[in-house]
Amino acid sequence: MDAEIIAIGSELTCGSRLDTNSQWLSRELEALGWTVTRHTTLADDKAAIVAEFQAAAARAHVVLITGGLGPTLDDLTREALADAFHQKLVRDEESIQRIQALFTARGRVMPERNLCQADRPEFAQVIPNHCGTAPGILLRITHASNNHSCLLAAMPGVPAEMKPMFEQQVRPHLLASGMQLCRKVVRTFGYGESEAEKLLGDLTARGRNPEVGITASEAVISLWITARSPSPETALLLCEQTEQQIRERLGHAVYGDGDAELHDVVAGLLQMRHQQVALLEGATTGGQIALWMTELQAAQAVVEESLVIPGAWGEPLHDLQSHTQPPLDRWSSLIHDMIPGYFKSHQADYLLLSSPFLDETTSVGVTIRKGLVAIARRNHQAVEVVDVSMSGNLAIFRQRAARTALNRLRLQLQSR
Ligand code: AMP
Ligand code: MG
Repeated sequence: MDAEIIAIGSELTCGSRLDTNSQWLSRELEALGWTVTRHTTLADDKAAIVAEFQAAAARAHVVLITGGLGPTLDDLTREALADAFHQKLVRDEESIQRIQALFTARGRVMPERNLCQADRPEFAQVIPNHCGTAPGILLRITHASNNHSCLLAAMPGVPAEMKPMFEQQVRPHLLASGMQLCRKVVRTFGYGESEAEKLLGDLTARGRNPEVGITASEAVISLWITARSPSPETALLLCEQTEQQIRERLGHAVYGDGDAELHDVVAGLLQMRHQQVALLEGATTGGQIALWMTELQAAQAVVEESLVIPGAWGEPLHDLQSHTQPPLDRWSSLIHDMIPGYFKSHQADYLLLSSPFLDETTSVGVTIRKGLVAIARRNHQAVEVVDVSMSGNLAIFRQRAARTALNRLRLQLQSR
């Protein structure tokens, strides 16, 4: 069944505050089996709030509202709820007592203005606030024309008041969603979004159960599987079947699940094999791989050493450029010459390298960042060199290059 979330406050729409309540509430609702179909953020404008309450109550079975329950003139949720559903606003006696008691407990006199916080639409129920002065409001609306029924719950905007109110007093009303939801995330590297979608074929069709969504972030493509069923066992089974189909269709591109990162996976594989890697990074990755790896607990066990090398590996960049050979080819020959010596003087089983990077502007004015990454294995002649050149932002270029190197190392480790 469908749920919507409405966040109210001009501080949200003008950009000075981020709406974190809706994110938190969405996760809670999904865990209860509700499908969240819409988030709406509104300024403190009564006409707009009234219209949205009416529209949301006509569409969804549950509407969670946060914000606008303070004592000031810009807090309009109470009045808007009453107006939207043609109810009188009444002052709730018990609420007055509770708000008054809160001020007394704090050794203060209740300002007259706070009385309005005890207002509620006449057929609504008050949700006591155990952490602050603003009570919440619970209101069930049934549309006579089609029998559609919707439960609206308005809660304070302050996250520290909203969360306990939801957990203790709103959540119990939402347990009977009738659905169980199971979600899994499969993480892949190597394909672009559209390539992945093509390979997945019918799995990404809209309206399918489970639904498969694709998101791309920093060159990692994540597939979000959401299965719904009245039975939790069936939801899990559906989810697992689709996960298996995704793994079959995308093969080696799948590197993990949940929020796994490539460097976690590589570190895990190295640890399992009691092997080590050394990192020699030029400006193409500029220390990005070392940064990720050293954040891990396993870093000490799996990284023998990591160096970030400025310029062109002992030669100034312009020397590299002054050779007749193109600079990155020259870097390639240079590392091929140095790798055997490196393995002789070090313990590491693998060596990850990245080249200096060079900017090249094309005839149409696009800047291409050019760079290489390389993966070498002890006692193996062949060094895998991968061109990671791309146009665009330096940070994205670095992260993509670093992930490409880690991914190739993962594939080598997994193939043995
Ligand atoms: P209100 O209930 O409208 O008086 O909101 C009180 C305070 O709660 C605001 O000033 C914000 O700091 C915070 N707040 C309100 N809405 C949200 C939201 N959707 N996400 C995070 N914080 C919020
Ligand atoms: Mg407000």
